[in-house]
Amino acid sequence: MSDTNLAQLTIVEASKKLQAGEITSLELTRACLAEIKKDKPDGKEDRFNAFLEVFDDAEEQAKAADALRQAQGKLAHPLLGIPLAIKDNILIEGKKASAASKMLENYVATYDATAIAKLKQAGAVFIGRTNMYEFAMGGSTENSAFGPTKNPHDTTRVSGGTSGGSAAAVAAGMALGALGSDTGGSVRNPASFCGVVGFKPTYGAVSRFGLIAAVSSFDQIGPLTKTVEDAELIFDCIRGKDILDSTSIDTDSQTKTSGKRIGVFAGSVTGGGSPDVEKVFRDSLENLKNRGYELVDISIPSIKSALAAYYITNFAEVSSNLSRFDGVRYGLSLKGDSLLNDYSKSRGEGFGAESRRRIMLGAYVLSAGYYDAYYGKATLAREQLRHEFEKAFESVDVIATPTMPTPAWKIGEKHSPLDSYLADIFTVTANLTGNPAISVPMGTVDTLPVGIQFTAAHGNEAALFEVGKTVVSKEK
Ligand code: GLN
Repeated sequence: MSDTNLAQLTIVEASKKLQAGEITSLELTRACLAEIKKDKPDGKEDRFNAFLEVFDDAEEQAKAADALRQAQGKLAHPLLGIPLAIKDNILIEGKKASAASKMLENYVATYDATAIAKLKQAGAVFIGRTNMYEFAMGGSTENSAFGPTKNPHDTTRVSGGTSGGSAAAVAAGMALGALGSDTGGSVRNPASFCGVVGFKPTYGAVSRFGLIAAVSSFDQIGPLTKTVEDAELIFDCIRGKDILDSTSIDTDSQTKTSGKRIGVFAGSVTGGGSPDVEKVFRDSLENLKNRGYELVDISIPSIKSALAAYYITNFAEVSSNLSRFDGVRYGLSLKGDSLLNDYSKSRGEGFGAESRRRIMLGAYVLSAGYYDAYYGKATLAREQLRHEFEKAFESVDVIATPTMPTPAWKIGEKHSPLDSYLADIFTVTANLTGNPAISVPMGTVDTLPVGIQFTAAHGNEAALFEVGKTVVSKEK
């Protein structure tokens, strides 16, 4: 097979070929590296700026995987020798992890994230670390300290965010799969924009140990892949209780029910979004109906408070989590003429505009005078929303919405942060409630991919995988 063809394989396909001895991990890894090097512009790792660093030991890792296969034979894990790209906020021992920020530009991880340790155990190959929106805030990977990641389907457009580099890498065949992190949609949003699958597990199903924290009560590591089967494979490898993360949960005892009832909100769902996305979404639902699914009207009244509750909680936790980057302990350290100036210089120059904005707003909503009016109310809204979702899942197995209200926008098009926040309308609810959710390509709008999102009850990822495999992406 040619390099390009090898790089286009799904993980499941590549795994079978590796197991049958038809290809080696070294060939597969070289095929991905060849895609990365294609038309490489000066000073960048690749033409889409998907990678911040391509690991120089990728071929060594692949050779080690091939040797291990000789020894393990049929016992080899399906991910043995599979080249994966890793978002720049997930720690790999001995590699840089900068969260795409000047603040951590030269930080080298001293330990593996649990998800990475599990993938290493399986024998996966880490091909490089991918670009992202600084500290996982935003919806487009435009404000990385190292430049925007471009959408492989149209390089004048954003790749989505914040795991934009991971999504672009998978879409362009630069890696067979990737890890991203999802705080309010950051795996699903870029998956939708780049035409790949993005999966956010139930809160706690994957350990957050070794993930640079953005919003600890929302963050989840999740896979980006070409197919639902591939996402399931990675999830199976990285899930489970971890003594290093007290919020992680035992995923073995979870109820695995699947059913054929899809909850849909009545009326137009995209609101101020794209009518074309709405049309592809309706066609997709019709298609699922023809395949035996039942569409059930649902209503979740508190959804109108979701964006406000999400952003208030996000700002609050971000401001608290980023307080550790003070220019003293680690990260960027700049000298001022007093200790206070050391702090303000390091934080002022180390953080980009969006991080600084959220730190300030977070300090405000948590301040003694405003806590009850903002953070306290957001917490109540979140509880109410969780309750309403639980109730809805008594009568449906999954809830469907488009993943994003529009296809990928033009780089630089959204000037106000609020415009970007509003685009998160469908994705943030699963983080507020902790439910698992998946984005699967459902078709295109003027050649740009768009995804359908399914959300399920806590622990019922099985239902998501089942319905996700049934979606047929329609080219229009
Ligand atoms: N766009 C959302 C935000 O800006 C989601 C970010 C994420 O999931 N990391 O917060």
